[in-house]
Amino acid sequence: MDKILLVEDTRLFSDLVTRRIEDVLDIPVVAAPDLSTARRIVDEMRDDLVLAVLDLTLPDARDTEVAEFAHSERIPSIVFTGSFDKQTRAKILAFDVIDYVTKDAPGSVDYLASIVRRIYRNRKLTALVVDDSKTARKFISKHLRQYQLNIVEAESADHALEILDENDTPDGNNVSLVITDFHMPGRDGGELIRAIRKRWPKDKLAVIGLSAMGDSELSARFIKMGANDFLTKPFLPEEFFCRITHNLDMIDQLKALRHAATRDYLTGMYNRRFFFDVASPIFENAKRRNADLMVAMVDIDHFKSVNDTYGHDIGDDVLKSVARTLTGFTRDTDVIARFGGEEFCLIAPEMEPAAMSDYLEKFRAEISKLSFVDGALSVTASIGATNGLMENLDNMIGHADQMLYQAKETGRDKVVIA
Ligand code: GH3
Ligand code: MG
Ligand code: MG
Repeated sequence: MDKILLVEDTRLFSDLVTRRIEDVLDIPVVAAPDLSTARRIVDEMRDDLVLAVLDLTLPDARDTEVAEFAHSERIPSIVFTGSFDKQTRAKILAFDVIDYVTKDAPGSVDYLASIVRRIYRNRKLTALVVDDSKTARKFISKHLRQYQLNIVEAESADHALEILDENDTPDGNNVSLVITDFHMPGRDGGELIRAIRKRWPKDKLAVIGLSAMGDSELSARFIKMGANDFLTKPFLPEEFFCRITHNLDMIDQLKALRHAATRDYLTGMYNRRFFFDVASPIFENAKRRNADLMVAMVDIDHFKSVNDTYGHDIGDDVLKSVARTLTGFTRDTDVIARFGGEEFCLIAPEMEPAAMSDYLEKFRAEISKLSFVDGALSVTASIGATNGLMENLDNMIGHADQMLYQAKETGRDKVVIA
């Protein structure tokens, strides 16, 4: 299991940093008050340690000894220190320290936690480095690798686009970040960015352009052509790290916002509003082709009494389990959403009328098999469904709702199909 090593002798900081890191990242921090304890921890759990946060001034270590130790153990590290000067900076950068944070800066613990999270997340991300010069590529890649990003390299714009093509998925690109030079044989960096932006927007794939010093006009052009940011060569490692972090964080935040806007908070299912975004094209498509389409409404029976008897938290557990069961039993082409409290809506294209009953009975049966409170509680659901293509999707949903009402009226725990 992944862990973060914290070497810090001041109890106050040790507790504070541990808490903040565990707040923003769901992984444990193992704290050591001195270098000898850190050595023992590394001996014990070397393979679990994904990152180290290091205070330089320790009872049994001076100068940059602890950074040297982490470097020799190949553990990526961030320095969190009180005092700092030019010499120390040069020394720790030579030990491949990713970044340093000074304790007295305002918000330093929050900032430290945010870069720990960034580096941890980077392990799952890939950056594409585009430059015709192999030396330049290696230089950039070395830094990005230090930030724990996975790297692919391309020596031309065409090659870069091939790689992006191969990594394309419906949710965006498996490459999260492109760093590109401008002057390259064949298509230049500007043309590359234009081609990228035709397919992947700024909030899904970050592009950073590299320009040479003295060419500030080029920096502006990069942004106009659709880059998220630019960097002027030569740059300090701190600046480079800051730009990469800033841009990847921004993409993360937008992704989280998009996710929150489309999902129901409790169950993680699509919410009602987003259901219509996804279901409307499915309905229009079925209508155009005069194809089979099923709409079903699922509603848990007597759910109010579950809350009344066992409390709201158990009620929430039931909702989550029912949601998981429904999601697990739908086909890839179906879309299901939480419509309201304990009500779900399902749209299933290409569902033959003859197959509907078996399909929905399976849902009903699976829900009744769930058990809660050590077997003391189980629930049932009623389902109403329709398959006649109507004027619009709302009418179909209304019709399925009428069937649901019939199911409720005639005893519950049953499927009624129009
Ligand atoms: P019926 O069989 O007729 O559907 O009866 P019911 O009790 O299931 O239906 P009713 O619409 O009267 O009650 C729904 C209940 O669902 C009331 C509400 O408190 C509860 N509920 C809605 N959203 C949530 C939620 O997010 N969590 C929990 N625990 N309960 C919820
Ligand atoms: Mg109900
Ligand atoms: Mg209800």
